[in-house]
Amino acid sequence: AQLDTLDIIVLAALLLGTVAYFTKGTYWAVYGDPYGNSLQTSNGAARAGRSRNIIEKMEESDKNCVVFYGSQTGTAEDYASRLAKEGHSRFGLTTMVADLEDYDYDNLDKFPDDKLAVFVLATYGEGEPTDNAVEFYEFFGSDDISFSEGGSADDKPLANLKYVAFGLGNNTYEHYNSMVRNVDKYLTKLGATRLGAAGEGDDGAGTMEEDFLAWKEPMWVAVTEKMGLEEREAVYEPVFEITEKPELDADADEVYLGEPNKNHLEGAQKGPFNANNPFIAPIAESSELFTAKDRNCLHMEIDISGSKLSYTTGDHIAIWPTNPGKEVDRFLTIIGLAPKRHTVIAVKGLDSTAKVPFPSPTTYDAAVRYHMEICAPISRQFVSTIAQFAPNEEVKAEMTKLGSEKEYFHEKVADRNLNLAQLLEILSNSEPWEKIPFSLMIEGLLKIQPRYYSISSSSLVQKDKISITAVVESISRPGAPHIVKGVTTNYLLALKQKQHGEPDPDPHGLNYSITGPRNKYDGIHVPVHVRHSNFKLPSDPSKPIIMVGPGTGVAPFRAFVQERAAQAKAGQAVGKTVLFFGCRNKAEDFLYQHEWEEYKKDLGDNFVLHTAFSRDGPKKVYVQHQIEEWADELNKLLDQKAYFYVCGDAANMAREVNTLLGKIIAKHRNVSDAKGEEIVKAMRASNQYQEDVW
Ligand code: FAD
Repeated sequence: AQLDTLDIIVLAALLLGTVAYFTKGTYWAVYGDPYGNSLQTSNGAARAGRSRNIIEKMEESDKNCVVFYGSQTGTAEDYASRLAKEGHSRFGLTTMVADLEDYDYDNLDKFPDDKLAVFVLATYGEGEPTDNAVEFYEFFGSDDISFSEGGSADDKPLANLKYVAFGLGNNTYEHYNSMVRNVDKYLTKLGATRLGAAGEGDDGAGTMEEDFLAWKEPMWVAVTEKMGLEEREAVYEPVFEITEKPELDADADEVYLGEPNKNHLEGAQKGPFNANNPFIAPIAESSELFTAKDRNCLHMEIDISGSKLSYTTGDHIAIWPTNPGKEVDRFLTIIGLAPKRHTVIAVKGLDSTAKVPFPSPTTYDAAVRYHMEICAPISRQFVSTIAQFAPNEEVKAEMTKLGSEKEYFHEKVADRNLNLAQLLEILSNSEPWEKIPFSLMIEGLLKIQPRYYSISSSSLVQKDKISITAVVESISRPGAPHIVKGVTTNYLLALKQKQHGEPDPDPHGLNYSITGPRNKYDGIHVPVHVRHSNFKLPSDPSKPIIMVGPGTGVAPFRAFVQERAAQAKAGQAVGKTVLFFGCRNKAEDFLYQHEWEEYKKDLGDNFVLHTAFSRDGPKKVYVQHQIEEWADELNKLLDQKAYFYVCGDAANMAREVNTLLGKIIAKHRNVSDAKGEEIVKAMRASNQYQEDVW
């Protein structure tokens, strides 16, 4: 007799129960307490049994202003700490910074009316909250929200709450700054009072920093008026205490030389591996995909076997970078710490609410090399703050001018792609800036961020090996004294060169510490974790799909096509699989040119590749042109409910493809362009249109 679904469920449950019973002593210990390995996790407050009550926390630590952040890549967190510092130094507020994930919000109805809450909220992807803001957002977005005093939304339960709000968004995305817009709406509706305007920074226009600076001055005016504060002369007060420990040798067992956490310090790495605990993964294979001599694109196979990390096709892998030795040296030299680089330091928050962004004790060298984003563009506000520590009055005057004059700053700093140490070097003529407290550097620079890559392999085909496809960033500008070398991609390039024993493993003189802290990355390893995404193939492979992925935007589509070819080979019915790919020219940067031919053998006519080469002939052809040319075929597939995917450049290509598709649909269905656009919107809402853009 055939089993029906219920039988199968019952059998499966029984089987699981039996397995559970017999494996209790072994697997259970591992799975039952996934975080029980004393890791410092980002929502550590909850896990360490600390209070999730923000009002209590503020009372205890004597604060009258909390700056909450919802941050994905660290920028919102940085803005939050800058606001907290400024609120204190300029206006005498007693401030603290708080991760949204660490607190509960059902007691905000009791938030004292002489205190202030600041919300710095990044919007992620398609209008989503950042990972650490999910619960906060769900709480306020809920239809039946209720507070500790039991007040309902109609009673204005938050009448006591004064708040300030700033959002970080990207106007190339559909739901621009939706986090701050929605939270502001919810809070107002619940009776809270906003001080100043709700600010919006736009990463898409590249004006985030300037939007922030322009927003905060009138905001502070509103805050000082409402709260009866007076501006005072800002004096720098360090957030961290740095204690040098000459008695401790840098090789001592308890000293962190770049290990991301205790687990890694103490010996063999232990899972679970996640955003707080990377897996040091072997790079099984690496190669270059371009034939052009002056540009590099890497293909790497990262081995995750034995790590219990898993991925599904369409996910992202995060690579934890190391700063190049050349820039670490420059940085330590210009702030006068090079001679002491291997001195052991203990770093401690001077206030109970200050989080040290890396494990301690460590050394200056390790902190800078592994934990601080020293190569990134500089913020104008930070330049202002550093001015007071200039080596002489002349340099101080120039630094102050750069910090206060927007145009001048752009001309002299931003447009020349300078990082902080490069700027300091130029301004002081290489005289060291010895007066800068190291604490200020920890406060002012971002914590180094893992970089994401769209996985370019199928989990069905190679579940233990993650492929990435990464273009090595190298940006030179006329008149700029330095070439910007992307931190992570050049690190990966150096790894690839080492793996192949190339004669000059370091052509750019970047001098990466390839073998990692205490040589723990030796044998070509790289620290990684996996981030799951919503960018997914239809569960039914017979559904047609259309993919638009020029350049490295093709990465996840190599995975999609690889998966569908394997399914076809295994005899499954696979639907039409159409890929639009574009690059400069066929001979130089046509990614996976020969693999497509292999996949075609399995998929047959169901695989169609449309290529656009922008520099091959007299006419520049882009994927957009190809899409227009094949509009009829596209429409036919869309009528059959094909899934439509776009990956790659968010700023231009993805937006243009979105608009174009609206027009194509409008023409075909004989409706207005506005209606066409609406149809695309509806496709997005139902996941029929998916984007993976950066
Ligand atoms: P970084 O050091 O981070 O520099 C990046 C850029 O910032 C530089 O090119 C430059 O424009 C600017 N910059 C840096 N320093 C300065 C300075 N001092 N002054 C002025 N400008 C500066 N990339 C891929 O190649 N393949 C993928 O599949 C892929 N998938 C992604 C998926 C997602 C979800 C996301 C968010 C990104 C993805 N990326 C992908 C991009 C990738 O994450 C990295 O951003 C990219 O590889 C550059 O990293 P990097 O560390 O080498 O460069």
